[in-house]
Amino acid sequence: MNFHRALFILAAIGPSSAWAQTDPKATEQWEPVPRIVASGNQDGAPPSDAIVLFDGRDLAQWESSKDHSPAHWKVHDGVLTVDKAAGNIQTKQRFKNYQMHLEWQIPKDVAGEGQLRGNSGVFLASTGPVDEGYELQILDSWKNKTYVNGQAASIYKQTPPLVNAMRPPGEWQTYDVIWTAPSFAADGTLKSPAYVTVIHNGVVVQNHIQLAGETFYIGKPKYTPYADAAIKLQAHGDPSSPISYRNIWVRPLD
Ligand code: MG
Repeated sequence: MNFHRALFILAAIGPSSAWAQTDPKATEQWEPVPRIVASGNQDGAPPSDAIVLFDGRDLAQWESSKDHSPAHWKVHDGVLTVDKAAGNIQTKQRFKNYQMHLEWQIPKDVAGEGQLRGNSGVFLASTGPVDEGYELQILDSWKNKTYVNGQAASIYKQTPPLVNAMRPPGEWQTYDVIWTAPSFAADGTLKSPAYVTVIHNGVVVQNHIQLAGETFYIGKPKYTPYADAAIKLQAHGDPSSPISYRNIWVRPLD
């Protein structure tokens, strides 16, 4: 096709569609340029733009869920161990959408069975002082039978994990979470539901799951409107040895 013939066709069918079909540049995007984030220098290390919630030193980023007083779980040897008597703790900062990394360990001497064996949990958005919210379950699920939507890496009482990627007690486990918060209209009705993706020890266990609301111990999940929320760690009252956490960081995605 010569140049004049091409111009004639262009005039006849319109410039945008003609160029879209002939110019590879038409489908290139150059702006905005993604900002640079330096990744951690080893697996699980916080990237340069992460908010570090626990780096082994102190609980400056955390408070007691029941009265917002300083958090009193035990920090020792670079790890954080649940104090069941002190109750749940939560971040002072509140979040909407985020990426989170956290590591946890069931003690080697864990005893008990079912839900009474290393029970804790991460409330991905906490809406009250006790066990309200959207719980990503933590439990010893290494050869420990329980209801599958209550085992480790389940969204408690909603969605079992796709597979059981559990390591044995005494070993460190990782959760990497992508949380899409629910949104609500001005009158409180649900505009878009919550979604979550969870990777347990490098294995996808929740793949962009849609949540039915906050979980309740008894009864069906339901949504309560909120704008932003703390991330809360559970002090479960089971009689087994308390679990530990380390290396917790979050990257807001709003
Ligand atoms: Mg729990």
